[in-house]
Amino acid sequence: MGWKQQLAGRITTCAQLEEFVDLSDDEREALDRSEFPFAITPYYAGLLGNEALRRTVIPSLLESVKGVGELDDPLGEENHRVTPHLIHTYPDKVLFLVTSFCATYCRYCTRSRLVGRPLDAGSVSSFEESFIYIEQHPEIRDVLISGGDPLLLSDSVIDDLLARIREIPHVRSVRIGSKVPAVLPMRITQELCAVLRRHRVWLSLHFTHAAELTPETRSACRKLSDHGIAMVSQTVLLKGVNDHHEALAELFYGLLEMNVKPYYLLQCDPVSGSAHFRTSVEKGIELIRSLHGNLSGLAVPQYVIDAPGGGGKVPLLSLEQVRRTGGDVRFDNYEGREYRYPDL
Ligand code: SF4
Repeated sequence: MGWKQQLAGRITTCAQLEEFVDLSDDEREALDRSEFPFAITPYYAGLLGNEALRRTVIPSLLESVKGVGELDDPLGEENHRVTPHLIHTYPDKVLFLVTSFCATYCRYCTRSRLVGRPLDAGSVSSFEESFIYIEQHPEIRDVLISGGDPLLLSDSVIDDLLARIREIPHVRSVRIGSKVPAVLPMRITQELCAVLRRHRVWLSLHFTHAAELTPETRSACRKLSDHGIAMVSQTVLLKGVNDHHEALAELFYGLLEMNVKPYYLLQCDPVSGSAHFRTSVEKGIELIRSLHGNLSGLAVPQYVIDAPGGGGKVPLLSLEQVRRTGGDVRFDNYEGREYRYPDL
């Protein structure tokens, strides 16, 4: 099945999902009640015999429970929105949200307030205000294109978008964040690779578990690598999914085999309804220390907390970097400002 057929045939109902997995009564109820969009590609549904993957995409009743300190916009991105599609956080970097559409929705998504809801522009001309903003801010050197999943746009829209950004002389680095190689690997066509290569794009790929590294995904990443496209990974640390040493080691070595450098292991953001996914920060530090001690340095990502409210990413490697007050973990960001993460 080609990638367009996969998208057209996405699983969006209990009945469709039950052709792949048995659902509990709670899961059926959660799926019927879910306010956050639900969709899974038939390809990815075929992997849901794996319990860890299943947990990341099938709704749970727990996601309707808003925990202490959880927010719909945990990183405070809306406070930094400068155009309908642009979020300017770090001085030299902008986040360019070009679509709200994803092939498969992750239940722990930081942007659950946006994904699956109207944002889509449809054509590159609707981004013009954002291009002008970047042109008028010479301090911006890094553009991270995200969403939703930008690789679901057509080749021609991606081509035009990248060409327009590359016209701006002070932009030095262009990245695209995507989960497509994991959930829709057939989207990685020779034509798409040629577009990405032409504009010297870095890919920041979202992977959760080694069970995602199927022959199809390996082939997609090999194609990207053969076209000279640089790839790094982002993995969210998730309770009951990948929060143990062996799961992470297997994933990170598997990524290296596909020429994807493990880049970030992210503490799960405190987005509303995420408590059942979040590990303690102490657990994250314990895991990253065990990886540093036992894996090749190339296979070890940085463990980071995205400081809630918009303080940027803070790499953690030692318990001495954090202070605990009741249910909160406090730590300092790159400016020496203190931030709090609502821990468990
Ligand atoms: S692919 Fe990314 S943007 Fe889409 S639901 Fe998953 S985490 Fe959110």
